[in-house]
Amino acid sequence: MSADVLHSLEGVSQGMELIDMAFAHIALDQQLTVITCNAHLKQMADQYHLSSKEIFSWLKGSHYQSHEEILHQLASDSAITAESRGHAPDGKSFHFQWSLKLLSDSTALCFIRDIRWRQKYQDQWTLFERIFNSGRASVVVTDASNRIVLANKRFEEISGYSSAEVMGFDPGFFSSGRQDKAFYRDLWNSLINDGYWSGLIWNRRKDGREYPEQKTIYTVQNETGQVTHYFSSGEVVLHNDAPTLLSSLTPGQSNSIMGQQGLIEQLNRKQRDQQLPISIFYIGIDNMGRLNRHGGMALGDHIIRVTLQRLTDTFLPEGLVARSVGDEFIIAAPHITSPSQAESIAQSLLSTLQSSIEYQSIEWRSTVSIGVTLLESSHRPREAIEQAHIAMHHAKEQGGNSSHFFDSKLQQIAKEGVLLEQALHLAMDRGEFSLNYQPIVDTETGALVGAEALLRWHSEQFGFVAPDRFIPIAEHTGLIHELGRWVVTEVCQQINRWGDAFKGSIAVNLSAHQLQYAGLAEQLMAILDHHQVPVERVALEITETAMIQDANSAVSVVADLKEAGFMLSIDDFGTGYSSLSYLTRFRLDKLKVDRCFVQKMTEQPQERLVTKAIIQLAKSLGMSIVAEGVETDAQRAALSALECDYLQGYLISKPLPAYEFSFFIKSLAVADGKERPNLCAEA
Ligand code: C2E
Ligand code: CA
Ligand code: CA
Repeated sequence: MSADVLHSLEGVSQGMELIDMAFAHIALDQQLTVITCNAHLKQMADQYHLSSKEIFSWLKGSHYQSHEEILHQLASDSAITAESRGHAPDGKSFHFQWSLKLLSDSTALCFIRDIRWRQKYQDQWTLFERIFNSGRASVVVTDASNRIVLANKRFEEISGYSSAEVMGFDPGFFSSGRQDKAFYRDLWNSLINDGYWSGLIWNRRKDGREYPEQKTIYTVQNETGQVTHYFSSGEVVLHNDAPTLLSSLTPGQSNSIMGQQGLIEQLNRKQRDQQLPISIFYIGIDNMGRLNRHGGMALGDHIIRVTLQRLTDTFLPEGLVARSVGDEFIIAAPHITSPSQAESIAQSLLSTLQSSIEYQSIEWRSTVSIGVTLLESSHRPREAIEQAHIAMHHAKEQGGNSSHFFDSKLQQIAKEGVLLEQALHLAMDRGEFSLNYQPIVDTETGALVGAEALLRWHSEQFGFVAPDRFIPIAEHTGLIHELGRWVVTEVCQQINRWGDAFKGSIAVNLSAHQLQYAGLAEQLMAILDHHQVPVERVALEITETAMIQDANSAVSVVADLKEAGFMLSIDDFGTGYSSLSYLTRFRLDKLKVDRCFVQKMTEQPQERLVTKAIIQLAKSLGMSIVAEGVETDAQRAALSALECDYLQGYLISKPLPAYEFSFFIKSLAVADGKERPNLCAEA
């Protein structure tokens, strides 16, 4: 090869060190031997346990089975690009995009890009598009100067315009002219001051007909707080002024169904006429999101129609039936005037509204949650509806399929929830989170094998707040993702701080919401890599409920975590569905028997049998067993007799701050397994 070519190759090679792609200069022999390569290729070779000396195993796959095929193609085209998928020697799967560029008869340049995650992001984007277009709400996104940049399918159906037609338009173009300038001024004032507006807007379709839409508009801001977009979501509501249009836009709905605003107007009238008290029921279908995801929108629509029909059958003509948003309804019943009457009606509604529907050969069950209140003269209809709404949420939080009567304590709890949520948003920046570590020991030898990291929040405002209280809030606000990252980062740093003093693994709890994030495995691995913590040192605990919540996406995230090398445990086993099919489907390593079994097993022989069966079954699936919440010697002895592998609980130690955990390690070393130290004070 000429000196010039070599020189320019060196330049390319140096340049390639700077970009995020593996690069090699290779000989065109049987193994495509590497002559020289960049650092990125070496990193990828380490990551996937592939050879950095020979490239053929990286490239072979569905496109090319043998090196002859590659050489043959290269001889005719002088440059080829293809993708390869395969398994590295350690079983880890890879997905590469690669190109070869012929340099001379005997050498070529090879570029390889890892596209495993790109595929994942593409899948996520497709999913996002599907969700955007399959919702019941019409969605329009405008830019900072309020020009339309996105509109979904439902918007097209409702407005009669195609989204291509309206690109670049100001949404004011659709205004019906019914609402005056002051109305729009107020709307913009709210958007500018609060970042949010919600209310009824009358717009005009392409065919000239007017329609009322219950709209919510949010501002979207960038990291510096600057408004970049406006996001509006609307639902057509039924209104006496536009009945025909509405029935054509909301198929299957009866014209006698009004929206929340219509109901408030009617209740105002009744209040003026002193027709009080009136029972208000706020009804929400449980798990609508899950039904839509698994059975499709058609199933969701069907359930909504059935529910609405049953409500109108039950309450009309005496009562008023309104649809609030998608899967929520409000009933005002002037003929039900006492709390006890309302309570018993709510109970019978629960069974009336329970549906069992066969759809696509699967039996689907839908239930509702009901909030109840009485509208008296002391408060406004809007407040009464809000109270019933709060009560419904409370019923949902209790697991759904139940009713709840509003009381002021509930309002207090709802208010506290809001304050707690605000404090939680600040907690991260204020450094109010910490981790405690609870030791896990070998049942037979008492040796320390690991620990579970448990999150603690010492709020400046509320004092110590238990994880069972704040984790659900972190979940519904989306903060859980940041919190989850923080926990793993802190665990990695702590593992490094302990160094040789502690060689076990630390178990981290994952929330159901984290399992819905397709990039979770990659994100966690990046944190571990950054802190140079081997994946064997961090185990992950997942509850059954988390896996069941959105099983399809959870399956692929759990598979990614498994593939990345994390040890996975099923947490709280026995409290959820206890479906052993999940254990096999997710290929989990450890099963944690819930505290409630451990507590009961020494008291009730029946429970001991159940625990024994769980342990035996899990063992037959190749899993090891940890018993949680072990508090007494009797429990320890019983678990040892059942050959439970590991123990965790106050008997061994309460969860400890990192420095106390260090003492615990030292005391174990001193006792050398003969004496069991008991550090009981949780700080
Ligand atoms: P968990 O994963 O089942 O954690 C075990 C809980 O049992 C802990 O409560 C622990 O303090 C308590 N415990 C341990 N041994 C005993 C015992 O012998 N007797 C009794 N009575 N209790 C014992 P904690 O710390 O309040 O955590 C509650 C739950 O909060 C955890 O249940 C877990 O689901 C969640 N959680 C805690 N930290 C995190 C976290 O970092 N991320 C997520 N997503 N969830 C977390
Ligand atoms: Ca746990
Ligand atoms: Ca547990």
